[in-house]
Amino acid sequence: MNSWQEILRNSVTTAEQLKALYPTCDVEQVIRRYPMRINPYYLSLIEEPGDPIWKQAVPDVCELEDDDAPEDPLAEEKSSPVPNLTHRYPDRVLFLISSQCAMYCRFCTRKRKVGTTLTATDHTIAQGLDYIRAHPEIRDVILSGGDPLLLSDDRLENIVREVRSIPHVEIIRIGTRVPCVLPQRVTAELCARLKKYHPLFFSVHFNHPRELTPAAQEALGRLADAGIPLGNQTVLLKGVNDDGPTMKSLFQGLLRCRVKPYYLYLADLSQGTRHFRTTMEKGLEIMRMIQGHTSGLAVPHYVVDTVGGGGKVPLGGNTIVCSTEKEFTVVNYKNELYTMLQG
Ligand SMILES: *Cc1c(COP(=O)(O)O)cnc(C)c1O
Ligand code: SF4
Repeated sequence: MNSWQEILRNSVTTAEQLKALYPTCDVEQVIRRYPMRINPYYLSLIEEPGDPIWKQAVPDVCELEDDDAPEDPLAEEKSSPVPNLTHRYPDRVLFLISSQCAMYCRFCTRKRKVGTTLTATDHTIAQGLDYIRAHPEIRDVILSGGDPLLLSDDRLENIVREVRSIPHVEIIRIGTRVPCVLPQRVTAELCARLKKYHPLFFSVHFNHPRELTPAAQEALGRLADAGIPLGNQTVLLKGVNDDGPTMKSLFQGLLRCRVKPYYLYLADLSQGTRHFRTTMEKGLEIMRMIQGHTSGLAVPHYVVDTVGGGGKVPLGGNTIVCSTEKEFTVVNYKNELYTMLQG
């Protein structure tokens, strides 16, 4: 079997390469602005043009028709005390340690930066580590990027070891799309190295049940066997997963792989992604089709990451119909009302 590095080297990255596979596709203009990388593994999941896998990976001219959205909608840079580190919440930081991804997702919030201007160097990493060391209130460090798993084993382990050596850091999280888009990268060797730094969590990123291939399932199994708790983040994407049955099947499938669906995000307002956006109500509708209808473990928090840097806000969950000093009334998943005493 090919190594993950080799799979990555064989990625489709130029307009000519894509045209050779799909002659009617012309993405020259788009990729001048937003880079393309479709590795052969993820490419092999496409069944036909326009399907949910295709939409996530293959550039679309719509990306260029959307110039009014902000480049950095979440104001990650505004709350950056040092480059590539966002300290927005009191006790945790987001630390970007890689500028590469195993695939460039067309809906990505950081799409203007990944693979181009986002740079994570020895210097920015050292600065980030110094910042964390100097701030004892930080008890949770989220390593992200780009994708941290695109670093070599040695480089990634060095960073994780450094973070783990900081006494006030209680938990470390790695945010990665690799188990979904390049599961071959999750080697036994990598898992053996990472399990030395517990408590270490993974946030993975699956958007469609078809992404849960045998290879992905094995990668998730190796991580779970290494004692790494797995949470998943999904982005609600028009034409990809914006319907109840697809989401339910995704979340149930993740649980079978020992992954807890953690967040469902309303798609961010960022440049070149408007064609993926749904209404906020669409997500509520999907949540209503899931909550109560299947295992509570399969139900993520539906959230929006606020424009301007206010952080994530939960959406929905309006189950309280009325509340008085003596009693309150709630509505259940079947729309039935129940009144209970309180106090
Ligand atoms: C999402 C996020 C976190 C982590 O949030 P949790 O709700 O704890 O998962 C931390 N920092 C930033 C900047 C984030 O965007
Ligand atoms: S893997 Fe994550 S950071 Fe990279 S392009 Fe996809 S969504 Fe963006």
